[in-house]
Amino acid sequence: MSGLIYLDNNATTQPLPEVVEAMLPYLRDRYANPSSIHQFGQAARHAVELAREQVAALLGATTREIIFTSGGTESINLAVRGAVAAAPSGRRRIVTTAVEHSAVLRVVEQLEREGHPVCFVGVDRDGRVDGAAWERAIGDDTALASLMHANNETGVISDVPRLAAIAESKGAVVHVDAVQSAGKCSIPVKDWPVHLLSLSAHKFHGPKGAGSLYIRRRTRVMPQVLGGSQERELRGGTENVAAIVGMGVAAVAAMVDRETVCRTVGDLRDELECGILGAIPFASVNGAGSPRICNTTNVSFRSLQAEAILLVLSEAGICASSGSACSSGSLEPSHVLKAMGIEVEQAHGAIRFSLSRFSTSDEVRRVVSMLPGLLSRLTSASARA
Ligand code: PLP
Repeated sequence: MSGLIYLDNNATTQPLPEVVEAMLPYLRDRYANPSSIHQFGQAARHAVELAREQVAALLGATTREIIFTSGGTESINLAVRGAVAAAPSGRRRIVTTAVEHSAVLRVVEQLEREGHPVCFVGVDRDGRVDGAAWERAIGDDTALASLMHANNETGVISDVPRLAAIAESKGAVVHVDAVQSAGKCSIPVKDWPVHLLSLSAHKFHGPKGAGSLYIRRRTRVMPQVLGGSQERELRGGTENVAAIVGMGVAAVAAMVDRETVCRTVGDLRDELECGILGAIPFASVNGAGSPRICNTTNVSFRSLQAEAILLVLSEAGICASSGSACSSGSLEPSHVLKAMGIEVEQAHGAIRFSLSRFSTSDEVRRVVSMLPGLLSRLTSASARA
């Protein structure tokens, strides 16, 4: 859409042109089932296996360690449920953090209802996981420790090597939700004491409907989608060949120019952040004291409501996002900001701006110059109320 300023890239990203080009033949002519024995089917199999090599290369893994799924949520469900189901009977506890994505939280809560002891470790005001509490929570009864690499709302990056090493030293299986860090951080799984790691293609300029789970050799996982013997019998169902092909191409792009892109995007994010803080006296940045992924800033506009802000931004052609969920008319502040101890007044007015390689300096300048006028409409409305 022309004129649109898209700053909601943690929700989803624009597929790269080469991703779309690579996918099209598999939607049009090369539609065979990769499990078919004939040559037509084997050409599709070849495309899936090439994509597996490309995704494995992004992580420094081997192809046997990559399982394709339908996206981040399914990968996480397979990792969490699958590892817990395969754990020895003396290991039933699950340890995770209070700031995980709902894809992790809802599954862990369900396992709690099924009788598993669960611990949600807290974070500090800058969104950093409490390392001492993490260490205390994990014991020789822990089946799984699951943590995110980069937070989707604040962009805060966890110290995965350190936290994973603590969990691994106690014999727990370690899962990392790397859905928001792929393409923005290096993810050297071989150097990390990590057994399982989830990715989602549409977060790094690939298509929706494809994800992957890295499963380190000799890690036991029970399949959760039963059916055919696809994906080494760990995920039944005919592969989404076109989306998998697209994910492979996106993985190559994420690897090739990640550092250059991150530098440029990081400069733009900083420009946006400084511009907003300079122009709006009641704005503050959440998680600013921690290392963050290059593209994300979470800004609180004190005393304003995020939904109202998003509406005026949307009318001005600016796409952003809020972490808070509106349920039955009452605004629940984001669980992430709540866990960080951000005051309710600030949490209610939190907006996430997330940039990408397609964001431009002109867009950033336009947002910074429009924002005071757009927000003044809300501040004068709330003063009248
Ligand atoms: N984990 C994180 C950190 C996310 O941000 C998301 C999506 O927003 C997911 C998991 C779920 O990924 P998907 O949309 O591919 O199911």
